[in-house]
Amino acid sequence: MSTLEIRDLHVAVEDKQILRGVDLTVRAGETHAIMGPNGSGKSTLAYAIAGHPKYTITGGSVLLDGEDLLEMSVDERARAGLFLAMQYPVEVPGISVSNFLRSAVTSVRGEAPKLREFAKDLKAGMDALSIDPAFAQRNLNEGFSGGEKKRHEILQLELLKPKIAVLDETDSGLDVDALRVVSEGINRFRGTGDTGVLLITHYTRILRYVKPDFVHVFAGGRIVEEGGPELAEKLEAEGYAAYTKDAA
Ligand code: ADP
Ligand code: MG
Ligand code: MG
Repeated sequence: MSTLEIRDLHVAVEDKQILRGVDLTVRAGETHAIMGPNGSGKSTLAYAIAGHPKYTITGGSVLLDGEDLLEMSVDERARAGLFLAMQYPVEVPGISVSNFLRSAVTSVRGEAPKLREFAKDLKAGMDALSIDPAFAQRNLNEGFSGGEKKRHEILQLELLKPKIAVLDETDSGLDVDALRVVSEGINRFRGTGDTGVLLITHYTRILRYVKPDFVHVFAGGRIVEEGGPELAEKLEAEGYAAYTKDAA
């Protein structure tokens, strides 16, 4: 069983200290929601875990099954079983969804999947998400709707089967269709018990569809409150005002 352990993590962006001591443990089979006001450092946590070069680790550690993630290259992190859905996926003209996914699987496994096997897995994954087969031949992220981006994100999860998935949901633009796709995907994943999910979100809406096991409230670059699903309901009713006052 896999465990992601974040210990006293401090992260700076361009000499500005953003994360100020984050402690969080995510185990396979658990779904954790990180919630908090805009600018509280939620995406910074995701990018730091993913190894984005702009984010400087100034203290603490991140371990995946006891191995130091922070020492690994971005590729090595993916191979170790970490998945990060980018908040703003890039368009890659000339690369099809199918080619992108096959190279992602190749990179994670360290060898290319056999074409027939990959085609079979891809079809199964697309069927499960009710994706039109023509989608596989589209250019990566080009003109994707919110729902298509999310289907693609969850399709990556289905094919890559990560140990830990970090899903940073944009604070806007998730329509009901996209919400439903992400939620169903997460719920299917948690059912297997093999993947731990860290779901980062500003709004409580998605938590109507996905019941997190744990909710962590972020403010001022650290976790200021923790609880179960009831905490999400409290946030839905009361908002973040109580936390932003303290954090300023
Ligand atoms: P959240 O995801 O909770 O809205 P972010 O992690 O995006 O918060 O941002 C936290 C703080 O870090 C903000 O003050 C933001 O301006 C700053 N920040 C984040 N990323 C960058 C960056 N790439 N360059 C400069 N400042 C950044
Ligand atoms: Mg933000
Ligand atoms: Mg963010």
